Amino acid sequence: MSVYWNSRVRKLDPYIPGEQPRDRKFIKLNTNENPYPPPPGVVEAIRKAAGEALRLYPDPSCLEPRLAIAERYGVRPGQVFIGNGSDEVLAFAFAAFFGKGAGGSMDKAAPPLLFPDITYSFYPVYAALWDIPFITVPLSENFTISINDYCTNSGGAVFPNPNAPTGIALKAEEILPLAEYQGRNNRVLIVDEAYGAFAGTGPLPGEGLLGAESLVPYIGGHPNMLTVHTLSKMASLAGLRAGFAIGNEALIEGLCRVRDSFNSYPVDRLAQAGISAAMADAGYYAGTARKVIATRERVAPLLREAGFEALPSAANFIFIRRPGKTGAELFAAFRERGILVRQWDRGRITGFARVSIGTDAEMDEFLSAARQIAGAGK
Ligand code: PMP
Repeated sequence: MSVYWNSRVRKLDPYIPGEQPRDRKFIKLNTNENPYPPPPGVVEAIRKAAGEALRLYPDPSCLEPRLAIAERYGVRPGQVFIGNGSDEVLAFAFAAFFGKGAGGSMDKAAPPLLFPDITYSFYPVYAALWDIPFITVPLSENFTISINDYCTNSGGAVFPNPNAPTGIALKAEEILPLAEYQGRNNRVLIVDEAYGAFAGTGPLPGEGLLGAESLVPYIGGHPNMLTVHTLSKMASLAGLRAGFAIGNEALIEGLCRVRDSFNSYPVDRLAQAGISAAMADAGYYAGTARKVIATRERVAPLLREAGFEALPSAANFIFIRRPGKTGAELFAAFRERGILVRQWDRGRITGFARVSIGTDAEMDEFLSAARQIAGAGK
């Protein structure tokens, strides 16, 4: 605490990202990065952009990468908003669509936003930042999102599909009735598709970056639904900080209003060049996504054989536990063996660790560490 902090800063409880070790000695399975490199075309485009033109501000409207995204996803450029990572897009979306006055409500008290009790731990942080009241909705016994629980009077809803850190996905058609329910009250539904490309069989053939359960094809019929995407996971570009939202033009305009009240240029010239180039290489990502899915499907049963419980994942990570051990113990045991994983010992996820899917060679090392750890616990 500092006397220089105002009351807003004093009450913040900031998000803590996974460790980024500087010495690179670890097998890094803690922040859901993609283990495969980005395609050479992206790196080349960024190199080209890193020249004399850096003297100039970037295009504030991100027109070129928006055109590239629109073409790839089959939407109009006016239905695309780009930000500095999807974290920023989400922060803007919370500011634009939730809290006081959501859905045109004139009530003094803002209706509460709904999101799962176990989900991306940045959501409550954004809610606190923007003074948005919220209610967390418990996942069902088997850790799935029960859509009916969100069909209630509220200030809107947000969740990832697949959910994080559980990795469990819903089908697109299970989510659509909620979009309709929330739409009848003019509330916004945000579906965070950060891990969408790893659901089902992976990216749809011919469409490259679109996951099988993506809601992007339905945004035309659901003007209150915003889908949020990132190039950090499936496109191997976590270091570029590039995320985007797809939704109807009025939602996109709301996001632009927040951005332009904050920073007109959050997406720099290098990122804009990288995003445009990334959209040209959809086939490459479909290939890496399928490799990640194949590794996940190989590793999960072997972990179960080794005595771990592993939730059925549709993402590029697996949520595991070893009965008798806390998450902190698992974290420490893997770390001792040179492997970084993530854990949150709280509530119903006490005892779980989240393990990102690495290369096959990395996962073989992870599996041998897991077998040792399980053996030591017997
Ligand atoms: N949504 C979810 C569910 C995530 O797990 C993450 C990654 N931490 C993000 C959004 C943000 O990703 P980025 O800012 O790298 O685009």
